[in-house]
Amino acid sequence: MKCPVCGNSEMITTTVNETLSFEGQSLTLHDMRGGYCASCGEGIWDEKSYHRYVEAQAALVRSVKGDACSDIRRIRKKLKLTQQEIAEIFGVGKVAFSRYERGETRPPAPLMKLLKLIERHPDLLDEMQGMSF
Ligand SMILES: [Zn+2]
Repeated sequence: MKCPVCGNSEMITTTVNETLSFEGQSLTLHDMRGGYCASCGEGIWDEKSYHRYVEAQAALVRSVKGDACSDIRRIRKKLKLTQQEIAEIFGVGKVAFSRYERGETRPPAPLMKLLKLIERHPDLLDEMQGMSF
């Protein structure tokens, strides 16, 4: 098969390990088959590998998002706060945490980092409660 991008050379069939990553998590797919063009560097998965790639990508995104929901719920329960109380402390809308925990809205990365810090140092919560902006 000729390269569909540059048309210059035959695609070389190769088998590679492809690593996907999303927000700090990664996943490696082994024995992915595809064509590789030596002249322009274009690579194309064969049909089966392409499906594996798409499915793995979706699974990775799901697992990262799922983690965020359960992390938030776990940390909030540990702090013994209701969704409304924690929203007030963080200065976000009343329903924000319920949306995060149900996976409807993706929590912003700074919020996740802050929550994880507070999980490790719960005394920071008192300090935060005294802050106003
Ligand atoms: Zn090419």
